[in-house]
Amino acid sequence: MANPSLLILPGDGIGPEVMAEVRRIIDWFGENRGLTFDVSEDLVGGAAYDTHGTPLHDDTMAKAQEVDAVLLGAVGGPKYDELDFSVKPERGLLRLRKEMDLFSNLRPAQCFDALADFSSLKKDVVAGLDIVIVRELTSGIYFGEPRGIIEEGNERVGINTQRYTESEIERVARSAFELAMRRGKKLCSMEKANVMESGILWREVVTEVSKGYPEVELSHMYADAGAMQLCRWPKQFDVIVTDNLFGDLLSDAAAMLTGSLGMLPSASLGAPMSNGRPKALYEPVHGSAPDIAGQGKANPIACVLSFAMALRYSFDQGAEADRLEGAVETVLAEGARTADLLGEDGVEPLSTSQMGDRILAALSASI
Ligand code: NAD
Repeated sequence: MANPSLLILPGDGIGPEVMAEVRRIIDWFGENRGLTFDVSEDLVGGAAYDTHGTPLHDDTMAKAQEVDAVLLGAVGGPKYDELDFSVKPERGLLRLRKEMDLFSNLRPAQCFDALADFSSLKKDVVAGLDIVIVRELTSGIYFGEPRGIIEEGNERVGINTQRYTESEIERVARSAFELAMRRGKKLCSMEKANVMESGILWREVVTEVSKGYPEVELSHMYADAGAMQLCRWPKQFDVIVTDNLFGDLLSDAAAMLTGSLGMLPSASLGAPMSNGRPKALYEPVHGSAPDIAGQGKANPIACVLSFAMALRYSFDQGAEADRLEGAVETVLAEGARTADLLGEDGVEPLSTSQMGDRILAALSASI
């Protein structure tokens, strides 16, 4: 059988630095676990603009459509700030998400015990936290028509439209139920059915989809109450599914429960391909961090954990994903810290590649 295929797009700023560590980890799995990927690498964002005059070349887009999964570093940087909107680095990423039709955005909020002090919440509220927010990514108020700023009488009016079709709700709900089945079998759906018709439909469709997943315990919550509960006692949740706007806010809030931006992975999934695997793009939540780019200071863990998500959700390698996440947990428990994870205890920070070395050593110790 052919090896699973992976397209790597390191991008800009710290993207190539953190991705270099992931490349070493991918090689480790090939050498030690018989898990060999057909890896190809290409340009995205500013790096693609510098070479091709576009933030995503058509050939790269075509490749992304063919592979089993795409792993992206980060795009953007001050060098590109003055570019026309149509060729800005971020357009490359948006084109990937749009043309791959990645409607289901998985944002885990996982708090490693060793980093519980980094959260703005009390340690016992976040220690051991492990939840995933599934955000609908391709519809809702960011895309609905009509939109715009119009003149009405003697003033301007800003308009955006929240719009969801049944099928859009159904497919993201299904992906959240599938995820819940692989995890704690608990799903909380969040909307504002008390004041929005789109919320009423959302609740009805999610309830309908739940009939196909009798093992999953489904609950509903108004999104504002959900925001409160996320801060009060986030461990009550396992998987949360919500729309594009609420998901944007709730996932950022949940992410901060866990401390540093350098720790947060994400996955964006689409419809199943002919081989049954969903179209998939994995990427750290952070950007290209121009303030530290080129200095070997970046924390590679968000990108490493994004690859762990690829192992789990694209390659059916849940045990190997556990192994990789376990290696990260081990090195953090041993006190390994990049500069972004430093407290006030005078620990010497590790460089990006030293953190990679430590994770590789923990992986080797795990077999
Ligand atoms: P950023 O995430 O790049 O950086 C925010 C802060 O977090 C910076 O101080 C940075 O040094 C730090 N940081 C981020 N990742 C880190 C890591 N792995 N290790 C250690 N520290 C880390 O956000 P920003 O500064 O607002 O944006 C910079 C550029 O990145 C902009 O061009 C923006 O458009 C782009 N951006 C891209 C993405 C993406 O590619 N998905 C996401 C957000 C921002």
